[in-house]
Amino acid sequence: MSTLPSLIGFCVRIGTEDIPLAAHLAVAGPRLPLQARAAGTVLSGTGVSPQGNGAEGRGGLAVDDGVAVVLAGELYHRDALAAAAATSACTDAELLLACYQCYGPAVFRILNGRFAALVLAAGQVVLATDHASSVPLYVRTTDRTVEVSTEAKALARPPDNAVVDGHGDLAGTVPVAGSPGLHRVRAGTVALLERSATARIPVARAVRTWTPPVSRIMMEPDRAVAAVADRLDIAVRTRLAGEAPTLVLSGGIDSSALAALVSAVQTPARTVSMGTEVADEFEAARAVASHLGTEHTELTVPARDLLRELPFAVAAAEIHDPDVLEYLLPLVALYRRLPGPSRRILTGYGADIPLGGMHRTVASLAELDEIIADDMSTFDGLNEFSPVLSGVAGHWSSHPYWDRDVLDLLVALEPGLKRRDGLDKWVLRAAMADRLPMQTWQRRKLGIHEGSGLNSIWSQALREAGVPPDTVASAKRTMARQLYASVVLSGTPADQVDVDMLLMREVG
Ligand code: ATP
Ligand code: MG
Repeated sequence: MSTLPSLIGFCVRIGTEDIPLAAHLAVAGPRLPLQARAAGTVLSGTGVSPQGNGAEGRGGLAVDDGVAVVLAGELYHRDALAAAAATSACTDAELLLACYQCYGPAVFRILNGRFAALVLAAGQVVLATDHASSVPLYVRTTDRTVEVSTEAKALARPPDNAVVDGHGDLAGTVPVAGSPGLHRVRAGTVALLERSATARIPVARAVRTWTPPVSRIMMEPDRAVAAVADRLDIAVRTRLAGEAPTLVLSGGIDSSALAALVSAVQTPARTVSMGTEVADEFEAARAVASHLGTEHTELTVPARDLLRELPFAVAAAEIHDPDVLEYLLPLVALYRRLPGPSRRILTGYGADIPLGGMHRTVASLAELDEIIADDMSTFDGLNEFSPVLSGVAGHWSSHPYWDRDVLDLLVALEPGLKRRDGLDKWVLRAAMADRLPMQTWQRRKLGIHEGSGLNSIWSQALREAGVPPDTVASAKRTMARQLYASVVLSGTPADQVDVDMLLMREVG
């Protein structure tokens, strides 16, 4: 039986008149104007429901005693939550509802999960992201509606004749450029919307539920190593949910560490690696797979086909930053080639951010820590963890290094535990030293865009189209912006965008 979340995305429109000024919400289950399904199915039209039923995603909806909850994604530490709220709730939405009835909006300070949530309660529309905004959440308020969606493209245009908030200011959110009145809820934030007696458009106030730690912990190296192994192990186990996940494995330390942890629980673990004819990391991944005895698959994607995945990557991530797209595109290409049925996927994505793994050449620990602090305060809005990246192919992905408890620890460890004995990501490497082949835990970092050759493939395609070498970087930016305008702002289906035409346009 599949244990994937019943809902991975939603789009809900609430009439402003349905938000009572008084303190009680009269809405009952069937009246909730809900259009909530797997995001891939409804919003981008390219995926399937992760449950394979294509249905209304009832598991993501819970209503009781004047409170309605819509939850896309999943919660971790469920048993502790159920005990705290004294509930025997069986779905995550029911559990959130029970906890909300106990704690109110402060519940979002307690949750460790991968979710976006909408709560209608006591005259309020409550919008909440998890600590990392790992399921992005968008909102537009007008004089007639509050529209909420986990994908911007569903709300790209305001409803006809609606008066859109012209101030561009909605507490707890940031405006989305190019889409009038559209806002993205910030990471680790609850935006509480209320109808006001004076303003036509509902107003918001914000509650922060998580911020990246800015202090650092001194710890005995042995204790730090044990703590990292322990928290990561818990994060992996909670994400298995009783079934064999598919781990996307590069052979780098981040994904190999997860392969070791999964293999300790689930044998054989399933691992898959992708490469192109330009570059691959197959040998490194194979070494890990055979050491751990995983059921391993290799997928080679022709370089030109990889570039044709760009519209899907932009449509899924809803961003136009070419550097981030270079990281995400190989994964989207891989997810779209995984055979069905819908899978639970684990990735090692994101470990480098709290551990400073991309910055082995910086001179001092002070500089390393500054970079980590800066990266942790600028990740929001990059959508690197969006479930739509795999959702476009019907799969549910999650990222144990960005589990809230793992992340809190990794960020807070003092930088001398991250760079030590001439190794980057030392504390992680040391935690896995006895579980992986020596060549793996000592292996230097290679980014996914390098391992798959994507960075050179995109540049090469532009040069072949006639773009002068010194303008390749700006041509990438332009291409990414054009794709964003097309598949996000105009809602063109990704499979109708001709990447070869776009490349040619760059020359003109
Ligand atoms: P390292 O950072 O040390 O190279 P890593 O390769 O595991 O470790 P990243 O390079 O940051 O991590 O890549 C992010 C994640 O993307 C990986 O942990 C892995 O889950 C996935 N990934 C990267 N490259 C591939 C690949 N070629 N095939 C399958 N999955 C990959
Ligand atoms: Mg790598």
